[in-house]
Amino acid sequence: MTKFKSKKLDHEKVIRDPVHNYIHIRDKVIYDVIKSKEFQRLRRIKQLGPASYVFPGATHTRFEHNLGVYELTRRICNIFNDRYVSQTPGDGLWNPDETLLAECAALLHDIGHGPYSHTFEHLFNTDHEKMGQKIITDENTEVNKALRQVSPDFPELVAQVIAKTYPNPQVVKLISSQADADRMDYLLRDAYFTGVTYGSFDLTRVLEVIRPYKDGIAFTDKGIHAVEDYIISRYQMYQQVYFHRINRSTEVILHHLLSRAQSLYQEDKHQLLVTPQLAAFLAGDWNLNDYLSLDDGVMETNFSMWRNSSDQILADLATSYLDRHPLESVKVNKATEELIPKLKDLIKEAGFNPEYYTATNSAFDEPYDAYKPSGKNAHSPIEIMQEDGSLIELSEVSPLVKSLNGTLQGDERFFFPKTMVEKNDDLELFDPIYHEFQRYIKNNELYYPDH
Ligand code: ZN
Repeated sequence: MTKFKSKKLDHEKVIRDPVHNYIHIRDKVIYDVIKSKEFQRLRRIKQLGPASYVFPGATHTRFEHNLGVYELTRRICNIFNDRYVSQTPGDGLWNPDETLLAECAALLHDIGHGPYSHTFEHLFNTDHEKMGQKIITDENTEVNKALRQVSPDFPELVAQVIAKTYPNPQVVKLISSQADADRMDYLLRDAYFTGVTYGSFDLTRVLEVIRPYKDGIAFTDKGIHAVEDYIISRYQMYQQVYFHRINRSTEVILHHLLSRAQSLYQEDKHQLLVTPQLAAFLAGDWNLNDYLSLDDGVMETNFSMWRNSSDQILADLATSYLDRHPLESVKVNKATEELIPKLKDLIKEAGFNPEYYTATNSAFDEPYDAYKPSGKNAHSPIEIMQEDGSLIELSEVSPLVKSLNGTLQGDERFFFPKTMVEKNDDLELFDPIYHEFQRYIKNNELYYPDH
C-alpha cells in the first residue's frame, strides 16, 4: 500500500473547542478541506436540527461535530502510532500509513448532510450518504480538489472508508461501529450544548484503553467501566434528548409544513412564495449545486415568508414552527392503535385537517447489540482484550451492558393539536367533540401528560 502524505503547514493551526479544548491541524490537506466551501457550509447547518426548541443551547452545528470527530480520530491514531505499530503484516496491529486516510474520512464523515436532514430526506428523496460520496468524488468540488493533492485516487479511498467498503476494518471501525469516534463526539457535544448531564463519560480513560486488533478496534480490560459508562450515556441521551416528545413534535410540524408547501407548489407553483434554492426540491428536479446551496437560513427564510401565506394551513404550520406551538402527544401500542382512526375523525370534526395536524411517530433505539446481523450496528460488538490477549464481548463482563444488550428502547406516539385536550372556554361550541376525544384518550389510558 502507498504511504499517503500531506504537505505540512508552516505552523500548526489550533482551533478552540469547548468539548476537546483544542483541535490540532498540521496537514495541509486537512486545512484545505476545512477551507472548502462545501465544508464551510456545515457552519450553517445545526447538528440537532430543531432540537433547540427544547434545549435552547443546542444550536451547535455539523461543522464543529465533524472537526471533533477528526480530532478524536487524530488522537486515537497518535496512540496507535505510539504503542501499537504493526511489525509484520497480519499481526493485527496498526499501519501508520493509514493515519491520514482515517483522519480525512473522520473529517468528512457527515459532509453530505443538509438542513433538517431527517425530515428533508423523507420528503424530497435526498440521501445524505449518497450526497456525501458525491461531494467527495465529484471533480468539481473544492473538497475533491483538496483531497487530490494527496493522490489521484485518494478521494475515492476516503469515500470507501465512509461507505464501509474499505478493506481495512480498523480504519472503517474508527468512524463507524458501536464505539467509534463519531458517537464519542456527538454524545459529549450534544450533552454539552443541550446542557444535560447524562451524556458525559470519561473520554480520557476510554482513549487510554483503546487499541487495534485484527478485525477492528478493542479496549483493554482496564477500561471496562469507562466503556460501560459510554454505553449508558448513549442510552440516556436517546431517552432524554433525541427522543424527547416535544423535539419529535417539532419534527412532525416541520414535516407537515414542508409537505404542505410541496403540495401547493405542485398544484400551481405560482401560488407559493419560495426561494429558488428550495424551489428546485419542491419541483423534484435538483442537482448537486442546488443541494449545496441549502442551509438552515434558506429554510427559515421560507418559513418566515409562509407565515403570511394566503393558504391557512401553510401559514398556521409556519407560525406553529417558528413560534414553538408544539402538538400534544400520547403513547400508542398494539392495543390502542385501533383507536387512532376514531381520534382522527374527531380531530377532523373539530376543524383540523388530520393530514397536516396528526401523525404517528416511532422512535426506537438499540443502546447496544452484540450480535446484530444487519443495520448500523451490524457485526460490531465491543470487544474487551484480556490480559492474555484473548477477546471477550462487553456484555459478557458487564451486567449493566448485559441488561441493555439486544433491547429496543423508545416508544410510538400519536401527535394531535393541543386544543383537543385543553380546557378552553372559547371551544364551548365544540364541547361534545372535545369531551368525546378526552374520554377516548383517558379511558384507554393513552394519556400521560409527562413534562
Ligand atoms: Zn457524525
